[in-house]
Amino acid sequence: MTDVSSDEWRLRVRLAECYHLVDYFGWTEMIFNHISVRLPGETRRYLVNAFGLNYDEISPENLLVVNADGKLEGDPADKPNPAGFALHGAIHAARDDVHCIIHTHTSEVSAVAVKQGGFSHDNFYGAQLFGRVGYHAFEGITLYEEERPRMLESLGDKHVLVLRNHGVAVGESDIARAFFLLWTVQRAAEIQCHAGMIPGPDTPISDKIRAACARDAAWVISSTNAADKMFDAAVRKMRRERGPLWHGDNA
Ligand SMILES: [Zn+2]
Repeated sequence: MTDVSSDEWRLRVRLAECYHLVDYFGWTEMIFNHISVRLPGETRRYLVNAFGLNYDEISPENLLVVNADGKLEGDPADKPNPAGFALHGAIHAARDDVHCIIHTHTSEVSAVAVKQGGFSHDNFYGAQLFGRVGYHAFEGITLYEEERPRMLESLGDKHVLVLRNHGVAVGESDIARAFFLLWTVQRAAEIQCHAGMIPGPDTPISDKIRAACARDAAWVISSTNAADKMFDAAVRKMRRERGPLWHGDNA
């Protein structure tokens, strides 16, 4: 692939690594779901996976470029159109601060999305999400244009959107930060599910402490390089175990 800028190539490598990480941690949903990232310096063009590939088959070269409506750039006959991009397109188009969006349906996240109360804020990760989660009522598979305004209203200025009865979408300023936030959300859901299986009441955390936790967690994402360090460490660990991630991967 010689016709992309070095900035775009670096972004393609990082996004491909992110797909492989989601697979590595077992957070995939067969060939479904997306991770999208805004192209450098662009407002309405994004990189996303080609429909039909497993996440561990994603490479920098087979990522597609789509616009906010999910329309494929180039010859649509070459590759299948990515389905279900409505959610990503809507958030990218409305939120200039959100450059990367990850959507998952893990069992734990989807289980929390079924509960009326949503995320508990009484575990270490859940406390960090206090006041940071939007909730969107289920309207069916998120394919339709007309659901977009309601989805955006549910998200507001937050970075985590629980799609009730469905799953979650997280959006952040770059790939590493979105991955960091997704990990926090996934851990909160896992611990909530486990705690729910243990008889007896939970130990509550006060709203004051929850708010302090959430503020500090948001600061770690926005103002430190913890997310980059975690992402890079996870990629190193994955590469040590799996070897090259795609043909020509010599990182
Ligand atoms: Zn979904």
